[in-house]
Amino acid sequence: MSGPAKVACITLDAVEQSLLLTWAKQGLLPHLGKLLEESVSSETRNPDIIYSGTLWASFNTGVWPGRHDHYFYLQPESGSYGLRLFMPENVSVDSIWNTIAREGRRVALIDLPKARLEHLPQTLQVSFWGEHEVLQPLTCWPPSLEQEVVQVVGKDQIGACDLVRQRPDELRQLRDGLIERAKRRGDLALAVLEQGPWDLFVLNFSEAHCAGHQLWAARDPGHPEYKPALRSALGEDPLLDVYQAIDRSLGRIVEALGREAFLLVLATHGIGPRYDAAPALDAVLRRLDGIDAPTISGPIEVVRRVWLQIPGCFRRPFRHVIDRLYDASRQAERAKRRFFVIPTTDNCGGIRMNLKGREPEGQVEPGAPYRKLCDWLKEELLALKNVQTGAPVVTRVLYGDDLFPGAYRKEFPDLVIEWNNEAPITAVRSQSVGEIRVESLNPRTGDHRPKGLVLARSNDLQPHFLQGAISLVDLAPTLAAHLGVQLSGIDGKPVTEFFPQSARPRAT
Ligand SMILES: [Zn+2]
Ligand SMILES: [Zn+2]
Repeated sequence: MSGPAKVACITLDAVEQSLLLTWAKQGLLPHLGKLLEESVSSETRNPDIIYSGTLWASFNTGVWPGRHDHYFYLQPESGSYGLRLFMPENVSVDSIWNTIAREGRRVALIDLPKARLEHLPQTLQVSFWGEHEVLQPLTCWPPSLEQEVVQVVGKDQIGACDLVRQRPDELRQLRDGLIERAKRRGDLALAVLEQGPWDLFVLNFSEAHCAGHQLWAARDPGHPEYKPALRSALGEDPLLDVYQAIDRSLGRIVEALGREAFLLVLATHGIGPRYDAAPALDAVLRRLDGIDAPTISGPIEVVRRVWLQIPGCFRRPFRHVIDRLYDASRQAERAKRRFFVIPTTDNCGGIRMNLKGREPEGQVEPGAPYRKLCDWLKEELLALKNVQTGAPVVTRVLYGDDLFPGAYRKEFPDLVIEWNNEAPITAVRSQSVGEIRVESLNPRTGDHRPKGLVLARSNDLQPHFLQGAISLVDLAPTLAAHLGVQLSGIDGKPVTEFFPQSARPRAT
């Protein structure tokens, strides 16, 4: 091996591929543009409907969500109507990175979300230096690395981006902070590569994810939250500014890696305007269940609204406690209902049946009655219309049994709704529920889109675009196979197109 890493994987969390391709073509992202020309590229297939968040656990383990147990940072707690905070160590399947390290390979991992990592002698790990989802403080392996990291790149100055309010000064500070973090991430990468040679080097850029959620309206005059004051404070496109900062650091890393390395670059999924009816879902379900539901916010929602006006620095220490207190206020009510909302990422909605034998005070009989109720709810949800446009509010309703096969199916929602995100939704209506207003307390103006993009580059691959989509769970097995590590018992398998004809791994 002549370079600092034999195999490298750079992930770009929530980098929207349509923007990436357009801006690369316009020469605005020169390093990504060059990589696109030099790589075999393909769209990727993420876990369906719920993908943001859970895709990380699938990427790290090579199995789909029903087998690794993760779909959101708050998940139903067995035997209760409550929720538990889901930490990386709660993922039920070992990371492929651990397997590779146990096979004697030197592995460096930087800010890889949702990875269950073992402290193995051949590994270097930096976690929560600057992740989008801030679940714990900076953690390094070996522990002595922490001081080095802080010396080289300092501590993250941003923290949880959702604490930022949609005000020009706060958003400008966020944009500048993300640009700086992307630069320092490049510094961190180069410092770690200098400690090589590594067999495997994996690094995630989280900056586009935070930028996409918080800065979308500032770049989109069609968005209801767009204000001219945002444009004067942030310029024409703050998202492009952040993508360009990522591109610059990526260029430095790719140059340091040299042409000898096998390199994967993954844009995990996309981002677009956040248009959903999530705040109205509980009221819709209550009306469908024959329970009175007001059209305006209740007292708890009013308190929550006031809480969100407080500057983020004061809310930071109480963030997860408040989430759980808010949820605790809803637990007693869940026991009395046939079905209720459980939290998911915003681009979809999750519904849980109050099922006998699973929930402590279950009301719905398993088997045919459960299925019949699911079918009826699906039809009712598909009948909801956007009051402003007349278009359906829900594009798909999928069943947990089909989406999450595996040992952990019972921890997941029973129904998952995909919102129609083509237009803002200020109120929903149907014959069964009447009209319900959508009052959002969510500060995010951008939200996830499902498509991912992967690029593979090495000296012996001919650049071209592959038709179809590569399964997300195939990517880590591909990296492992490039290091001669075979894996078994997982859903993914190496992508043969990412190997030269002469060295394609045989099917196992
Ligand atoms: Zn997100
Ligand atoms: Zn963030």
